[in-house]
Amino acid sequence: MISGEKINLLDLTRQDMEAFFEQLGEKPFRASQVIKWLHQYGVDHIQSMTNLSKSLRAQLEELASIKAPKIVVDSTSDDGTRKWVLEMDSGNHVETVFIPERDRGTLCVSTQIGCALACTFCSTARQGFNRNLSVHEIIGQMWVANKALGRDPKGLRIISNVVFMGMGEPLLNFDNVMNSINLMLDDFAYGLSKRRITISTSGVVPAINRLRESTDVFLALSLHAPNDALRDALVPLNKKYPLAEVLDACVRYVRGDPGKRITIEYVMIDGFNDKPEHARELVKLLRNLPVKINLIPFNPFPGSDFKRSTPQALERFREILIKNKLTTITRKTRGDDIDAACGQLVGKVKDRSKRTQKQVSLRQGVA
Ligand code: SAH
Repeated sequence: MISGEKINLLDLTRQDMEAFFEQLGEKPFRASQVIKWLHQYGVDHIQSMTNLSKSLRAQLEELASIKAPKIVVDSTSDDGTRKWVLEMDSGNHVETVFIPERDRGTLCVSTQIGCALACTFCSTARQGFNRNLSVHEIIGQMWVANKALGRDPKGLRIISNVVFMGMGEPLLNFDNVMNSINLMLDDFAYGLSKRRITISTSGVVPAINRLRESTDVFLALSLHAPNDALRDALVPLNKKYPLAEVLDACVRYVRGDPGKRITIEYVMIDGFNDKPEHARELVKLLRNLPVKINLIPFNPFPGSDFKRSTPQALERFREILIKNKLTTITRKTRGDDIDAACGQLVGKVKDRSKRTQKQVSLRQGVA
């Protein structure tokens, strides 16, 4: 690990950091010291780590660096939602969003540059896929946001919750997401509790099974439809892992933990998946799973063919679910004036998949 290119200290979990110091002949507690400097104090210079000896600092300078994503745009919505566009490498930007609420502050992080899943109602999908984000690029979003937000008047951190609901599919970047979560949970880094972290997935079944063995953070499922035919049209991954398999994996995920529920995300699209019969079908589909349902009014973006459900359709849908004892909330659209709402995150992606091109020609072919 300590030969060749300089390592970025923001890439290291506590375990990695301990191994690193061990190789230098240092005690493991150095790892806690450095993690604290990096993640609690947000230092970006090794020389600022004043409880390390001068010679150790000099040695570290030779072997390591601290490189965080660079802020390209920092915008704040009328409702207080804040969005950062971050440069990950030349030509690739991702977006990170902070959503303040009365009792919490939630950071929505991205896990990939673009996305490979091609969900038909999501603007990130239009970008195509470039690559997975590394640990320093994922935890770096927390690092940057934390520094930018500062502390509240009581000296506490402003970010209390993290949702993996930004650009990309977190479960297709499993190891880097898990290592970033390790740092979020580490008392010397961000000290969040497991119950304040949510991973949202479009339903990568083997990875949901693996997740169950690795951690017990909250899971959100982007369901969006009550049957396979409709879901196939919205989430192409459904053809590989159909509803029955995805829901089975969710049942296994919560098994043995009575307090745990899966959040079901359901984007409400006018005339497509928002009719009373869809709500009734959803009730039947979810009867064996402890859930809480988030209805998300569809957020339009240039070039999308879908429209947002009417408030009446949304309310009728919600009432049917509630009457059937399903906890249901309608997610408030936040930050849409700065394109920070669900499904509006696009960043700038150097597309290697060429899907964008294909989609454009398909759309032209149909028109
Ligand atoms: N790939 C993961 C993480 C992305 S999360 C997943 O699919 O869950 C982003 C959330 O925003 C998902 O629930 C997604 O379905 C939803 N979303 C995407 N496009 C949207 C749009 N145009 N309007 C509202 N919600 C959208």
